[in-house]
Amino acid sequence: MESNALEKSLIEGMEQLEVIDCHEHLGPEKNRTGAEVDVFTLFAHYTRGDLAVAGMTDAQYASLFNRDIPLEHRWALFAPYWEHIRWGSYARAALLAAAKFYSVDDINEKTYQPLSEAIQKANTPGIYERVLKKACNIRTALTQCGSTDLGGTPLLTPVMPMIYPTETWEALTRPPFGSEAPVRTLDDYVDAMRRYVLKVKGEGAVGLKMMANPFETPDREPALSAFARLRDGNETALPPQNPLRDYVIDQIIAYATEQDLVVCVHTGYWGDFRQLDPVHMIPLLMRHPKTRFDIYHLGFPWMRQALMLGKGFPNVWLNLCWTHVISQRFVVTALDEAIDLIPMNKLLAFGGDYGIPVEKVYGHLVMAREDIACVLARRIQAGQMTEAQAIELAKKWFWDNPKELYRLNV
Ligand SMILES: [Zn+2]
Repeated sequence: MESNALEKSLIEGMEQLEVIDCHEHLGPEKNRTGAEVDVFTLFAHYTRGDLAVAGMTDAQYASLFNRDIPLEHRWALFAPYWEHIRWGSYARAALLAAAKFYSVDDINEKTYQPLSEAIQKANTPGIYERVLKKACNIRTALTQCGSTDLGGTPLLTPVMPMIYPTETWEALTRPPFGSEAPVRTLDDYVDAMRRYVLKVKGEGAVGLKMMANPFETPDREPALSAFARLRDGNETALPPQNPLRDYVIDQIIAYATEQDLVVCVHTGYWGDFRQLDPVHMIPLLMRHPKTRFDIYHLGFPWMRQALMLGKGFPNVWLNLCWTHVISQRFVVTALDEAIDLIPMNKLLAFGGDYGIPVEKVYGHLVMAREDIACVLARRIQAGQMTEAQAIELAKKWFWDNPKELYRLNV
C-alpha cells in the first residue's frame, strides 16, 4: 500500500476507537449554550496568540467579541490578520471544525456570515454530546475549568488546579484555604491544602495540575521563617520563587499521591517559557517516586528533555494534549522518537485543550489522528509492524493508557 492510502486506512481504523480526551478547559455545557456565538467563537482560544503576534492589539482582539459592533465591521478588522495566521496549526483546527459541523470549506468573506448563523443555530443543549460523543467518539474528557460542578455529564471528568499561593499573606489565607479553619501556622496552611485536595477528590477530581517552574529542595526551617515573616507583617510579599512555595508544593504532591490523584504538569510553551522547562521537574520526580506525573505538551520546544523524562522515570507519563495544534510537524518528529525511546504504556495521544469552542476538539482530534497515522504508516512500510499492531498502539494511547493512569471508570 502506498503511504497515503496506508495513512488513510490507519485514520479510518482510529476513527473506530473510543477516545479519552486527556485535557480540556470545557466548563458545563450551559456556559457554551448561554454564550453569544458567531464565527469568532472559533477564534476564542489559542489563535489569539497568533493574532497578537501577527500585530492585532488587545483592544482589537476584544472588539471581535463585542457583539454591539456589526459582524461585517468585526470581519473587516479580522480579515487581514486571518490571512497571516490561517496556515498555522491553531487555525487548522478551526477550519476543520467549520467544515465538519457547518459545511463551509473555508473561512473567508463569503462564508463568515452563513458560518456565524450556523454556529448560532447549533448552539443548543446537546452540543457536547453531538461534538464530543458523536463526532469524536470521546467517552470522557478530563477538563480543567476551576470547578468540579460540570453539570453531571459523564462526558466531563474534572481535574483541578493545584493551588499553592505563597506570595502574600492575603493570598494564602483567602478561600479555599482560610475558610474552614484559621490559618496561623505553616501546619495550618498545609492542613488547609489537604482539605482542598480531599474536597475536590470527593467531588470527582482525578488529578491536580501544577506548572513546571524551577523548584528548590524543600526545607522546613526557611519555609517556617518565610511564613512567619508574611504572617507578622515583616515582609509584605515574597518573590514567586521562595522557600515557602518549595515546601508546600512538596507537601501537596505527597498528599495528592496518598490520595491516589495524578499530578498533571504543564511544561514548555507559555509566556516566559524559560520558567517552564520540563527538566525543572527532575528533583520532584526523584523525591516522589510513587506519584503518577502526567507531563503535558511534550515540553515544547524542549521535546527531547520531555522525552527524557519519559525515558528515565517510571513515574512519568507523556501527554500530547495541546501538542498537535502547536505544530503537527513537531508531533510527527517527537512521536517517532517517543516510539524509539519509551514503553508504549506511557503515552497519551490526545487532549483538545479548548474552553468555549468545543467544535475545535474535533478539528484537533483529526490532526492528532493524521500525525499518528503518518508516524505509524512509515513504520509499517519499513516492515517494523503490521497495520493491526499499529492500531493496537493507537488504542493504547487514546484509551488504555489514560484509563489506567487516571483509574477511570469508563
Ligand atoms: Zn490547558
